[in-house]
Formats: sequence, C-alpha cells, structure tokens
Amino acid sequence: MEFESILLPGINKQRPLIIAGPCSAETEEQVMTTALELANQDIKIFRAGVWKPRTKPGGFEGIGIPGLAWLQRVKKETGMYITTEVANKNHVIEAVNHQIDILWIGARTTVNPFAMQEIADAIKNVGFEGPVLVKNPVNPDLELWIGAIERIYNAGIRKIAAIHRGFSSYDKTIYRNLPQWHIPIELKRRFPNLFLFSDPSHLGGKKELIAPLCQQAMDLNYDGLMIESHSNPEQSWSDKEQQITPAVLSYILNLLIIRDTKHTTENLTELRKQIDEIDGELLSVLSKRMRISREIGQYKKEHNMPVLQTVRYDEILENRTSNAEKLGMGTNFMKTVLQAIHEESIRQQIVVINQ
Ligand code: PEP
Ligand code: MN
Repeated sequence: MEFESILLPGINKQRPLIIAGPCSAETEEQVMTTALELANQDIKIFRAGVWKPRTKPGGFEGIGIPGLAWLQRVKKETGMYITTEVANKNHVIEAVNHQIDILWIGARTTVNPFAMQEIADAIKNVGFEGPVLVKNPVNPDLELWIGAIERIYNAGIRKIAAIHRGFSSYDKTIYRNLPQWHIPIELKRRFPNLFLFSDPSHLGGKKELIAPLCQQAMDLNYDGLMIESHSNPEQSWSDKEQQITPAVLSYILNLLIIRDTKHTTENLTELRKQIDEIDGELLSVLSKRMRISREIGQYKKEHNMPVLQTVRYDEILENRTSNAEKLGMGTNFMKTVLQAIHEESIRQQIVVINQ
C-alpha cells in the first residue's frame, strides 16, 4: 500500500500533529468551551465522539446526530478541522453530511471485518476522500489492524493514518491498555509512509501517564498524538480519569523533547555497523548452539530419553536470567529469549529423534 500525506491545507509538517478534544461531545456548551480553549492553544484538529461504544449498556452512549451540528459550529467559529468516530454505514453518511473532515474508526470496530467492510463501502459510496484514521483493534493482532487499513485503502482512500491506543488485557497493569510497542513498531517497519498517531489517553487511562506516553511516542518517531482534552475533566461524562484541560495539554506539549530524525541517522552509521556485526555473531553462536542441540537429540534417541528435560530447562532459565541481570538486562527479556531458543532447540531435537 502506498499512502498519501494526511496533512490537510494549513497544517504544517512539524512533528507531532495534534488532535485534541473531549472523549465525548456532551453539550453544545461543553463542546464550544473546550474547542475555543484548544483553538487558543493553536490546536488545529478537534476530536469528539458522538457515538460512544461502551463496554456495558446503561452508561452515556453518546449524544448522536445533534453533536455533529456542534462540531460543525466548532469548524465554523474556530477554523479547526473536526473529527469523530464512525462505527457503521449510517455514522459515515451522517458524519459526511455534517462536513466532518476526518473520520476515525475505534478499536472495537477495527476488530470486526464485517463492520470495517460496511464502513469502507459507505465511504466509497458517499465519495469521502479521507483522511481516515484506523485505531488498533482491541486484541493484539497486527494482521487484523492491517486488514482493516486495507479495506479502507481498497475503497480508494489514500489519506490513511493508524492510531496506536493499546490492547486489552485481563490483568491489571499501570496502563489501561497494554502498549505492546513492538506491534506499532512492526506496522511502521512494514509501512514506513503510514502516518502513525499515539493515543496516550486510552493507552494510559490516567492523566499522570499522558506526558510520559507522549514523550515515548516522540522518541519512537510517531508522527502525531490524539489526546483527550475537556474544559472541565472532573465533570466529564466519559473517560473522566484520563482527560486533561487544554491548559494542561499545552503545558505537556511544550515540555516535549522532539529529536531531529535526520541528524540522528547520519551519526548512527558507525554504531549501526557494529550492531550488524554483533547480530552476525549472535546468529553464528545460535546456529552452533542448535548444532549441539541436534547432537543431544541424537544421544537422547540412542538412549531412549524424552526430548523435554524440565529440570535442566529450569536450571538454564534460573542461571541465565540471574547472570543477565548482573549484566544490566531485564530478567523478563532474558526469559523470553531463552524460551524462544529452547522452543527452537526442542523442535530441532524432535526432527532428529524422528529421523
Ligand atoms: C475514543 O477515542 O474515545 C475511543 C472510544 O477510543 P477507543 O476506540 O480507542 O477505545
Ligand atoms: Mn475516550
């Protein structure tokens, strides 16, 4: 897929591009107050959800179509571009009828290929040209995320961006949604010209995490940030804990350190050469290790021993992780590496045993 820039006229190229606004449009007054405050902070794109996908029924499920008219008023009175979430065909039709500039697709919609196809078809039918922003699906499935993007692409849209908002987990962590950074990083590796936003609000789920998550996104070379901002967060009807005032937003943005992407790559050549060499050594050491594993497999075959020897595996895990820690590496990291090596070693031994 070859994407086009999502930068609309009047928006400059500097990183990061900011989209800000409340989780939900609640009242006309709340929308207008927040929008004016954000426009004063020089924010160019205003977000607000009018249809809210909620985990359980009975909560505030969005104001619906009247909210679109408030967004139109924001556009008219502040000059900001406006964006809202669409989850079905009717949402697309209504949003486009109300001159919404940018559509975004939420994490609970990206998971569903039927919904994605319906939205893609509707976008094509109404002649909307983008930009369309596709959030990651709630489950950590990169192919599903790419598939959703592809459906929009196949509808003729070239102005597409991805939004990393994190992944659901059963376990409670400091994050509301697990970042699993390797997933958006792999997306960026495969599609270098796909514009990537971070959504620190839904990643962190709390005000205190917005600033560090924004900085992390910038250090990972993300292009933009979508941040929930409400003129009176304490009174907000949804996602209260993670919304910040426009003033706090501006404070956080001013403190962000944006590193220059061009200079760093030039100076990195020498260090990268060293990394290439070390990776070469790693590969050759690993292949030596696998050769010995196959010899062990041969021994086990001749002595009728099972491949898996858990006591030995325990010993290896224990000893290597504690050594890794002494060498300044995380124990979880070492465990993951050893598990992968062990899995491949078992696979190779099984091949030998069955020969
Ligand atoms: C939102 O942006 O308000 C939203 C509902 O996000 P997500 O789809 O990431 O949960
Ligand atoms: Mn929200």
